[in-house]
Amino acid sequence: MADYDDQNIFAKILRGEIPNDTVYEDEHVLAFNDINPQAPRHVLVIPKGAYVSLDDFSQSASDAELAGFMRALGHVARALGLAGSGYRILANHGRDANQEVPHFHVHIAGGGQLGPMFSRPRG
Ligand code: 5GP
Repeated sequence: MADYDDQNIFAKILRGEIPNDTVYEDEHVLAFNDINPQAPRHVLVIPKGAYVSLDDFSQSASDAELAGFMRALGHVARALGLAGSGYRILANHGRDANQEVPHFHVHIAGGGQLGPMFSRPRG
């Protein structure tokens, strides 16, 4: 598993070194609007702990962090008003998924018809 890079952009957001548009925060979790939204609503939910990806988080996070994260995902989606019409959650881990930021995060996308789940890879 890759070592955690504390200079990644979400680590800087958590330390308050870079601004963010927060939609929810609690003891374990921060949720904020994606800077480059791919849907009418596109929010990123991240743990406050230093985890590289789901692979890391699912092995190393405490039960309280795991439960708190899952609860927060549902809470944020409801708070955004997406629970009725629907939404998609997605997490990229590693190279094949083109994970861009090496701090575990889950995308919540919704607010309109999202289309098919995947497009065919080119390569
Ligand atoms: P990934 O490909 O790692 O799953 O997604 C990273 C996401 O982080 C992308 O959707 C990208 O737009 C978003 N992102 C990258 N830098 C920033 C930033 O500085 N602020 C915010 N709010 N989102 C960012």
